[in-house]
Amino acid sequence: MTVRSDSELDKLHQANAITVETLERLSREVEPGMTTARLDRMAAANLKRHGVRPAFKGYRGFPATLCVSVNEEVVHGIPSRWRRLRRGDIVSLDFGCIVDGYYGDNAITVPVGEPTPEAARLLDATEEALRAGIAAARPGNPVSAIGMAVSDVVERRGYSVVREYGGHGIGTSLHADPFVPNFRDPRQTTKLVPGGVIAIEPMVNRGGSAVRIKRDRWTVITRDGSLSAHFERSVAITDDGAWILAEPRGRGGETLDDASVRGRKT
Ligand code: MG
Repeated sequence: MTVRSDSELDKLHQANAITVETLERLSREVEPGMTTARLDRMAAANLKRHGVRPAFKGYRGFPATLCVSVNEEVVHGIPSRWRRLRRGDIVSLDFGCIVDGYYGDNAITVPVGEPTPEAARLLDATEEALRAGIAAARPGNPVSAIGMAVSDVVERRGYSVVREYGGHGIGTSLHADPFVPNFRDPRQTTKLVPGGVIAIEPMVNRGGSAVRIKRDRWTVITRDGSLSAHFERSVAITDDGAWILAEPRGRGGETLDDASVRGRKT
């Protein structure tokens, strides 16, 4: 894994802070009846305000600024002017931007209106899995410690993790080594070192772990049609633990509080 200097970490912090600030804005705007294309336009407008470029648009041909994945859609959903959010849906917003060549990448899943009890439980479990993954991202640990921590939480709650997609190194490109699986994978022996930067992103299904790609060639959905949730934070490894890059510097080792993930921070 690539070790980043303090000035590089500052740029990564800026990119991730802008990304999460945008996600928090979007999460406050989500309401029944709005189209997923409107969320995409709002994300693009917020980046423009900051004068920075989106990370996903054009990436391998992805057509939008924001990935919007509703209910059984896991990740990589394409915003559409024809898709309207309905009360009781859950919607994953995954999003990145680039500051001076350095990437931010984060995601949240939010309910549309009041969540159903089963959706609320799934969102809770996925956030808890992200927190556990972040807590395991300590110097000296192998990358596999993250997947072990994530899958322990998810399986204890009776859900399953997606295996085909996962976290990743991030820095001067959106996706870099190492792959950060959300399941036990003893092959992931790369050691986490201070200055290394990774995105941790559990994708959790209410039913089975199997997924497939829709005919639009982007949207990943659960094979059994069950609900899926997704939370992501990019973190830098420090001597004390993970620094959640969207947060102010010097908070390595602190855990993510619910408010900061869910975008309810005022
Ligand atoms: Mg990512």
